Amino acid sequence: MNLILLGPPGAGKGTQAKLLSEAHRIPQLSTGDMLRAAVKAGSAIGKQAKAVMESGGLVSDEIVIGIIADRVSQADCINGFILDGFPRTLGQAAALDKLLGTKKKDLSAVVAMSVQDEELVKRIAGRYTCATCGSGYHDDMQKPRKAGVCDKCAGTTFTRRPDDNAETVRARLMVYYRETAPLIGYYFAKGKLSTVDGMAPIGDVTKAIEAILARFSTGIKAK
Ligand code: ADP
Ligand code: ADP
Ligand code: ZN
Repeated sequence: MNLILLGPPGAGKGTQAKLLSEAHRIPQLSTGDMLRAAVKAGSAIGKQAKAVMESGGLVSDEIVIGIIADRVSQADCINGFILDGFPRTLGQAAALDKLLGTKKKDLSAVVAMSVQDEELVKRIAGRYTCATCGSGYHDDMQKPRKAGVCDKCAGTTFTRRPDDNAETVRARLMVYYRETAPLIGYYFAKGKLSTVDGMAPIGDVTKAIEAILARFSTGIKAK
């Protein structure tokens, strides 16, 4: 199963990718997470990506396509993967088609998550992550069961992304509408697109995506 989660920043792609990754035992491939790891490690890619990411722009197609080509070739991707945050441009989508073609793989489904713009701004402003295990939380919408303690690993250190601030959010939304939203049309035209209501509670969104995947596994095409 090769799945793309498509949606604006804050739509819930990472949240859903983690849940689906555990349920289906296939990896979550987040280019954002991989780039943040590169920045932290201070690698050549990280050095090139840092300022662009902080300003809310897009890292070059060349870099992210290279990262994904390496990653999908790794052994844990043999039964499939969930792409979270890639592709983000039509160029990246075309490169992905080519890459999957050479590996004789196909996309199972592309799930577009629709969320109102005002809600996206709220979600991003309140987002934080467990520094130990990467679990995602929100100040109001997804609090840990015990305040200050990660549900998953009991860690007590949390981080906020430097690009999750009110000014950068608007720049990122603009980039989304300009560069990434056209992919909705691209995948619709290829007969791959399904849409879920990303405004619903987290569990309901998961159920809606699972229903789409069930259609795929019974051989009925996504509509
Ligand atoms: P993305 O990966 O698309 O940028 P995230 O999965 O990081 O988005 O979610 C953004 C924020 O919104 C996080 O703080 C997360 O806890 C919260 N969130 C995710 N899905 C929902 C939802 N369905 N309802 C309410 N809050 C959500
Ligand atoms: P979000 O889901 O909140 O938009 P991500 O973690 O997916 O954030 O991405 C964070 C940043 O990393 C982006 O704003 C962009 O600078 C960079 N990035 C991630 N994925 C890509 C990609 N596929 N192409 C170009 N830049 C990317
Ligand atoms: Zn944790």
